[in-house]
Amino acid sequence: MSEGFKGGCLCGAVSFECAAAPKFQANCHCDDCRKSGGGVYASYAFVDESTLTIQGETGSYASPADSGNTMTRHFCTTCGSPVFHTNSRAPSRLGIRVGLIDSADWFQPQANVYTCRRLPSTPLDPEITAFDKMRS
Ligand SMILES: [Zn+2]
Ligand SMILES: [Zn+2]
Repeated sequence: MSEGFKGGCLCGAVSFECAAAPKFQANCHCDDCRKSGGGVYASYAFVDESTLTIQGETGSYASPADSGNTMTRHFCTTCGSPVFHTNSRAPSRLGIRVGLIDSADWFQPQANVYTCRRLPSTPLDPEITAFDKMRS
């Protein structure tokens, strides 16, 4: 992929631009990712906070992760699109929802996490690493 990417929420009130390629790309099959986005799993591009510029206001919701860390999910307060989340374990690392990225043809997950919670109908690429729970 070329360096950097941009995107935004459904209504356009929140937009973002990242100056660097993602450091990690993954799908998460946990229940919280399902509920927070409405899809049967969630795809993330992880970037460092210092490379990301966000325009517009986001609301946030914090909840405990299995690990005891706090997950804070940010969403557009107008249209409800989930935009990104942070984990208190590594607060400068943001997981952006790939569905909000413009032209994300380059997306190639390197791992599937929480495959213990995967719905049986969700296909799993045998070529990439599967973690039963969180990537440690
Ligand atoms: Zn919006
Ligand atoms: Zn998850």
